[in-house]
Formats: sequence, C-alpha cells, structure tokens
Amino acid sequence: MKYVGAHVSASGGVENAPLNAMQIGAKAFALFTKNQRQWLSPPLSEKSIKAFRTLCEEHNYKPFQILPHDSYLINLGNPDDEGLRKSRESFLDEMHRCELLGLDRLNFHPGSHLGRISEEESLTVIADSINITLEKTAGVTAVIENTAGQGTNLGYRFEQLRYIIDRVEDKSRIGVCIDTCHAFTSGYDLSTEEGFKNVFTQFDAIVGFKYLRGMHLNGSKKEFSTRVDRHENLGGGFLGEEVFRMIMNDDRFDDMPLILETPDETKWAEEIGFLYSLQKK
Ligand SMILES: [Zn+2]
Ligand SMILES: [Zn+2]
Repeated sequence: MKYVGAHVSASGGVENAPLNAMQIGAKAFALFTKNQRQWLSPPLSEKSIKAFRTLCEEHNYKPFQILPHDSYLINLGNPDDEGLRKSRESFLDEMHRCELLGLDRLNFHPGSHLGRISEEESLTVIADSINITLEKTAGVTAVIENTAGQGTNLGYRFEQLRYIIDRVEDKSRIGVCIDTCHAFTSGYDLSTEEGFKNVFTQFDAIVGFKYLRGMHLNGSKKEFSTRVDRHENLGGGFLGEEVFRMIMNDDRFDDMPLILETPDETKWAEEIGFLYSLQKK
C-alpha cells in the first residue's frame, strides 16, 4: 500500500498537522514539531499532545505514515564545540517531542563539515551524535535524509549514508529517507526508467532497502548533478514524471510516508491525486 502526503503546516499547534493533511486527501504527512528556524521553542503542551494523538487516531494516521522533520539549524557534524553542543541538545529535544507525540521516526539532514574538518571526520561526528541521542531516547528511529550536497552538506552519496549507519550502535533505530530532488541534483539520474533501476540497485547494494523509512517526492528546479537544492512541483523543472511512476509501481516503497515538499502547496491535493493515478494496479 502506498501512503502519499505532504509536509503540512503545524502552525497554531502540532494538532493542526493531521487536519491539514486530511484536507488535501493525504494518507501520510510530515511536520515540524517546533519552529524550524529557532533554537528554542516552548515545550509541547499536554493539550496539544493529546489533541494530536486523538486527531491522528480519528483520521487514521498511524506512526508509520508520519515523518516529522527536525530544525534546519541543527548540524550534528559541526566542527565547532559550541555549535555541536547546541545541535545535539536540540536534536535530543526533537526526539523527545516525537516520543511524546507517539511518533516512531525523525527525519534529519545529516550535517555539514563547514570546510573545517574532512568529510570523514564530520561523518564520524554525526554518527557519534546519533549514538548519544539514541542512548537517551526510546522508540524513535533517526532517519537520515540524503542531500543535494549543496555547500558543505554531507549525505549526498549513498556511501556517506552507509558510513554513518556502520558507526551507529543500535541498527534497529537508524534509517534513511531518499529525496528525489536531492538524489537527482547530487548526481543520481533517476529521471528515466533505466536510470531509476540503476540508482536503486546501487542504493540497495550500498545502503539497503531495509533501512528505507520514507521518501521525499520533489521535482527539481536545477539540472542534473548541480548539487543545488531547489524543489519544483511535480512535472515541472528537470526531473520529469517517470521517477514518480516508477516509485508508485514499486512495492519497495510500500508502507512508508511518501512526502511532497513541493513549493506550491495549493497543488498538493492535485499532486497526491496525480501520484495515485500513476499506479497500474
Ligand atoms: Zn527532503
Ligand atoms: Zn531539499
């Protein structure tokens, strides 16, 4: 079964996310559980937590259909001590929020070396950050997202995702999320049927489908291999539609959140319908 949705707004309270998802006919959703551009947010209120849990239950959103995303400020591979301390503290808070909401996974961008340490050193710091956090939490899987490799961002090669996974002690609580736009602009050409098959054969060999916990379904405003992260609505830009037909007809992408992060949110309901229409059945 395919669970398609979008990264919906949680403004006014996390409990608004399932309602916003329902309104666009989503069978999955992503959300920020706090303000994604601030270090500090007030803790979730009892009332909010209860309302979120009730609404998810009422509208049939199970944890495996929900992919919370962490704050953009967090850099778990930060070479700077103070920056790393703040990032780890904030990441732990994000994991705790997921625990309180009854969610089972947290999606995050691995981190950046900021040009001050090597890629390998930074990847090792990221793995340490994950280990520290998993030790202090329970029930929530840390889901690493592949990136476009913009600037000094890591996670733009499957080998880098593997490098981190190899160093995580609790393999039962580490996973990955593949973003179609990021994959394409980081140099994985999944825009054709042949390219798609090839990319996911590589993915399976290097990372393994058993670690896949979600997908981000985005078009790309930028050309192949440009290492720039600019999402486009489906069908527009340079990625095309074939990749989405392939995903929607491949059972390796069943039973996980398939999330739109496309820029024009007024098209989400239509895009969800379009994705389901690609299924051959
Ligand atoms: Zn994404
Ligand atoms: Zn992106």
